[in-house]
Amino acid sequence: MGGNHPSHVVVIGAGIGGLAVAARLAHAGWKVTVFEKQDKPGGRVGSVVHQGFHFDTGPTLYLMPEVFDQTFSDLDRRCEDYYELIKVNPNYRIHFHDGDHIQLQSDLTAMERELNRFEPGVMTRYLEFLAEGGRSYDVSLKKFLSRNFRSLGEFFAPAHLPLMFQLRVLKKHYAETARYFHSDKLRRALTFQTMYLGSSPFDSLATYTLLQYTELVNGIYFPRGGLYAVVEAFARILREQGVELICDAPVKEILLEGRRATGVLLEDGTRVAADAVVANADLPYVYDALLPHPDARQEAGRLKRKKYTSSAVMFYWGLDRRYERELPVHHNIFLAEDYKGSFEQIFSGYRAPVDPSFYVSAPARTDPSYAPPGQESLVVLVPVGHLEDGVQIDWPQQSAAIKAHVLRRLADFWVTDLQRHLVFEACYTPRYYRDALNLMKGSAFSLAHDFLQVGYFRPHNKADRFENLYFVGGATHPGTGVPIVLISAKLTAERVMQGN
Ligand SMILES: Cc1cc2nc3c(=O)[nH]c(=O)nc-3n(C[C@H](O)[C@H](O)[C@H](O)COP(=O)(O)OP(=O)(O)OC[C@H]3O[C@@H](n4cnc5c(N)ncnc54)[C@H](O)[C@@H]3O)c2cc1C
Repeated sequence: MGGNHPSHVVVIGAGIGGLAVAARLAHAGWKVTVFEKQDKPGGRVGSVVHQGFHFDTGPTLYLMPEVFDQTFSDLDRRCEDYYELIKVNPNYRIHFHDGDHIQLQSDLTAMERELNRFEPGVMTRYLEFLAEGGRSYDVSLKKFLSRNFRSLGEFFAPAHLPLMFQLRVLKKHYAETARYFHSDKLRRALTFQTMYLGSSPFDSLATYTLLQYTELVNGIYFPRGGLYAVVEAFARILREQGVELICDAPVKEILLEGRRATGVLLEDGTRVAADAVVANADLPYVYDALLPHPDARQEAGRLKRKKYTSSAVMFYWGLDRRYERELPVHHNIFLAEDYKGSFEQIFSGYRAPVDPSFYVSAPARTDPSYAPPGQESLVVLVPVGHLEDGVQIDWPQQSAAIKAHVLRRLADFWVTDLQRHLVFEACYTPRYYRDALNLMKGSAFSLAHDFLQVGYFRPHNKADRFENLYFVGGATHPGTGVPIVLISAKLTAERVMQGN
């Protein structure tokens, strides 16, 4: 660290982005203090434990393991010294409305058998589809996600234009996937993954076939103990580094002298001086609520008009029996009959679809310690619209209707007695994301990833109009998802260290 570098950095929020940026800065020799609003770190990567039932409240898919490995290696550490990774096989089972299902997996022989049931002879096109996704993955990761863009000129540099063409940024994910597959069911099974970004496949960039590539070729993993094991790993690293991580400490305001961030004011009135401030809390919320400056108000207004991702209704169910035969696979997707219409209701109507698609995680299939012996912990994620001005929804009532729908569909799989075996239940609605995690509009994945909201166009990791103020997390470049936020932490740490 040079003599003119700031010596004390305050990080607002201990989500995965805040934890990773703190670890990187501490590793580079900076004094770091992290303030977290909640009573424990992790943010969206949350966990609930109740009488032997374990639940990952947010992420359940550990994708792009190489990005985690790189982060640990940059910190002179190894993932395997902190948690054990288990490869999930099969990747998941997708249930169609008519009771049919397909099991997706990385094993090509098994996959060919499955695909041929729906479209005989499709394997060559499937491999081409994966190869195209692989190209998008490599180009995105190397040329666009892993670097800061400081100007529009850098983003649209002549060398990048052919790459953008390769990334098919002007094409839509569903339409592009439909070129490879004629079967309506395969089209559905190989497009819903854009919901990992909180976006409709009918509206997302074709580039995101990289999602199918990463999970079907690189595989889906699960840390023993769940995704929260990653949070615990970072918390341990921060302890090893001597970083102060203070929970139950919401930040009320970022202190400014003119346009220079000088520290933070906590809700309890404590003022903490800092040479730089890194905000991990959702960026649109930070401009809206934490920055008392007219320019910030203006920016907050601009950000509110941007496009946001979906939200979710989540159920966490502890059951005093196990459904090993009925739900034999860890990750399960149940697709709506009106596939396209269900996305329109989420993204144009900002509500819960009448017949929603949903996801069920049965983690005890991979890690039996997730529930007491013979019992079960299930997580159900139902994508719904984010909270939009002018759209009134009675969420308790809506959640009850969604639960009834989920139970009806599970009953088709002989899960007929679930309600009777329910011994624990928790439910999150979009209000949880807005009120507990301070996510703008309760949007689970924050700003959408349209072409005009990625790369140079996504909010930068350093504030444009304020000095010494930086951002890390899903609403900043490069975007959402745990591994992508780890990349954000790398880019933000670089900018803090460079001082611009
Ligand atoms: C239901 C769900 C499922 C998901 N599934 C996956 C998945 O399977 N795989 C995957 O890779 N990604 C998944 N994601 C996305 C992933 O969780 C996020 O992209 C990632 O965790 C975001 O991390 P972050 O650091 O940007 O923000 P956050 O996790 O939102 O962290 C921000 C932190 O700031 C704190 N904070 C806010 N305001 C203040 C304040 N004023 N003072 C102090 N602290 C404050 C918050 O409490 C929070 O802890 C999922 C997300 C959700 C919601």
